[in-house]
Amino acid sequence: MLSEFDIIQRYFYRAAPGAVLGIGDDAALIQPSAGMELAISTDVLVSGQHFFADADPRGLGHKSLAVNLSDMAAMGARPRWATLSLALPTNMARENDKWLEAFSDGFFNLADAYQVDLIGGDTTKGPLTICVTIIGEVARGKALRRSGARSGDDIWISGHLGDAALALAHQQGHIALEPREIDACLPALNMPTPRVGLGQRLIGLARSAIDISDGLLADLGHILKCSKASAIISLPDINCSAPLRRCLPHPLALKCLLAGGDDYELCFSAARSKRAKIETLSRELGLPLTRVGKIGMGEGLVVLDAAGDAVTLETTGYDHFRA
Ligand code: ADP
Ligand code: MG
Repeated sequence: MLSEFDIIQRYFYRAAPGAVLGIGDDAALIQPSAGMELAISTDVLVSGQHFFADADPRGLGHKSLAVNLSDMAAMGARPRWATLSLALPTNMARENDKWLEAFSDGFFNLADAYQVDLIGGDTTKGPLTICVTIIGEVARGKALRRSGARSGDDIWISGHLGDAALALAHQQGHIALEPREIDACLPALNMPTPRVGLGQRLIGLARSAIDISDGLLADLGHILKCSKASAIISLPDINCSAPLRRCLPHPLALKCLLAGGDDYELCFSAARSKRAKIETLSRELGLPLTRVGKIGMGEGLVVLDAAGDAVTLETTGYDHFRA
């Protein structure tokens, strides 16, 4: 059996070139760059709740960091440092068990891609639980907030929505995808790509932003609430993959698209005058940025179908404490 110290040393200890002091003391030390604010966010992933107990550990390592990087993207922040707290069942701490190796590989591959330093954490025995805290930097007063949307803004979405939820629905036997369709959708569920580059480039262009983790309706709903605004969305304008389009108008596919969750795309609002710049940015990043609706006065969120009729859904998004 590996000791707590062995686990940290073997799988998580790394030099942290971007920190004053990394793993190994009672606290890490970081020095923010001049003129920057720190952006801090944390997410807990619990076995059986956020992922299957037998989920691929490499994917989990990737995803536990990716969901936090996505929060940095939504603020327009550059991610720099992370901490990782793990509760592990005893079997994963056995000498011959490969779980930790694959998990840390998945984590560090993504961390290295964004030059994020792991600077600390905690390791304990318990039901598998993964908690990552991310710290990033953003120029003073420039962070993208949920509260900045104004009436008349365009509503934009990056990438396409619904694939992660569709893959999960397939795995749970609720919808049947063909083998090549599941191959196309699974990466969105297991290895999401956080839109870190986009987020930083949206500073000065977007007026509000959020990352879509609980479904478009729920997350756009947060922007509307914080901005005291309403929105109209056009369903046919929402970018979705070929497998999802094939499944529409199946009610479950519609739910995946609008309220599925786990998308980790950005939803943002921007003045009409920024359209050309946003379209140029989309080409530069090689990432679809699609206009799907408009911000209005008052309150409410309406989705219109191709015929101009309001679309109704039973649920608007994932809420852990809802019955
Ligand atoms: P303490 O007793 O002060 O909590 P620990 O023995 O728990 O210290 O941790 C020793 C060092 O290892 C600390 O710097 C801590 O931040 C780091 N650490 C512990 N667990 C992890 C982990 N899972 N990932 C990264 N760093 C970790
Ligand atoms: Mg500790």
